[in-house]
Amino acid sequence: VTDAVYVKLPTDTSISLEHAIHAGQLRLDYQPQVHLKDGLVRGVEALVRWDHPTAGTLPPDSFIPMAERTGVIRQLTRWVIEQAIQQAKQWQEEGLQLKVSANLSVQDLHDEQLPDYVASKLKTWGLDPSMLELEITESMIVDDPVPAVRRLLRLRAMGIGISLDDFGMRYSSLSHLRVLPVNGIKLDRSYVTDMVADRVDARIVRSVIDLAHSLGHEVTAEGVEDMATWSQLRIHGCDMAQGFFVGRPMGSDEVGEWLASWRAPHTDPERKEAEIAAAQENAAAAAAGTTEGGRETRVLILEDHTLVRQSLVKTVSTEPGFVVIGEAGRAEEAVEAAGVMYPDLALLDISLPGIDGIDFARQLRSQHPGLRVLFLTMRDDDEAIRRAVEVGADGYVTKNSSTEELLGAMRIVASGGSYLSPSIANRVMSFATSGDRRLVG
Ligand code: C2E
Ligand code: MG
Ligand code: MG
Repeated sequence: VTDAVYVKLPTDTSISLEHAIHAGQLRLDYQPQVHLKDGLVRGVEALVRWDHPTAGTLPPDSFIPMAERTGVIRQLTRWVIEQAIQQAKQWQEEGLQLKVSANLSVQDLHDEQLPDYVASKLKTWGLDPSMLELEITESMIVDDPVPAVRRLLRLRAMGIGISLDDFGMRYSSLSHLRVLPVNGIKLDRSYVTDMVADRVDARIVRSVIDLAHSLGHEVTAEGVEDMATWSQLRIHGCDMAQGFFVGRPMGSDEVGEWLASWRAPHTDPERKEAEIAAAQENAAAAAAGTTEGGRETRVLILEDHTLVRQSLVKTVSTEPGFVVIGEAGRAEEAVEAAGVMYPDLALLDISLPGIDGIDFARQLRSQHPGLRVLFLTMRDDDEAIRRAVEVGADGYVTKNSSTEELLGAMRIVASGGSYLSPSIANRVMSFATSGDRRLVG
């Protein structure tokens, strides 16, 4: 773990940086990247540090811009790449399969020799190109996109992964994403850090994930600092996470120990409690932030038809007063969303593969006694209605109802009332008169 010291650099840094490369004053820290789904470790990002003889350890932001201005960056990048390749190979020999990512700089894409350099180093050290990844940023290709893209294509053709770093929602980002030869994007940490407390950020994150996936790119979230963010990213289908919550940048010799101690939080029963506490805290913070006009109703949507689910998510999340905190196509997945995100209202389909919506509601109710439950279903048979009544549903809306009716029902149910679609209400009345159980409401 490096605590970088921030100091003003001596004025002759361009010479001394060049010297530093040869004198062995640069070193790489490595920060883990893990798969969100199963917690498996995917690889590490190499981050350069300068152990300056008088100024202490310098973070990259303090000398990379200067290296770019003076042109020393080309040497620096080559040093970083060779070091990263060598390290990946060494880990491999120790039985650790870790993909290593290195950061490129603007000028590197103007360096015609770079692809050959990378190829020769991979060959020298005997590392498979698929174990190397290079991170670029979109600012690198704006000046002179054609040769830059050509160089990227060459690197990609060699089997090296390319990812787009610090990706955000600027318009340029979206247009670049269509044309750049990248395998994945790294979602900028400015969006990730606040996504649990800030629902706008959460929506941005979800849109970027969907967009990237629709273009066939994997998504890594940067700056994952806590359990609640981890869980929310999982729910949104993000592929990978990097950040202090997973692991800080560390020396190459610390990686083995980190690997041995790493457990995906959702697979570790001891961390489950902490996960729930963190989510509650965040939910409370988010709620406190929206006191004006009352707190938003946190909705969990369970619906197995993808298109129907997507349209529900869109309808509900654009409706003032509601925020979708989780969506799932199967009850088994929704259990996790509910355990972490504390919904106020569950909007549930009944017919599902696996556990059905009614049994799921029973389970949810025992975990979250105050939860409001609204069924939205094609089922209008007596058995389904009876079971829904028994489980204590707060509302029952048939799928042929209008959007207005659904949103109206959601408002009524969220504010403590109950609602039944007219056809269902008639049916429930007939149970009641035939001496059946208490009806809804
Ligand atoms: P980056 O590529 O986006 O790298 C991630 C940065 O975020 C790292 O800062 C890392 O320490 C920090 N970070 C990681 N997880 C968290 C987190 O959970 N919370 C917060 N607040 N920060 C987190 P670092 O090492 O200071 O690097 C800063 C930037 O310097 C990098 O951003 C990258 O653009 C550049 N850089 C680093 N190494 C190199 C290099 O070898 N070559 C070039 N050209 N640039 C480099
Ligand atoms: Mg990076
Ligand atoms: Mg980044």
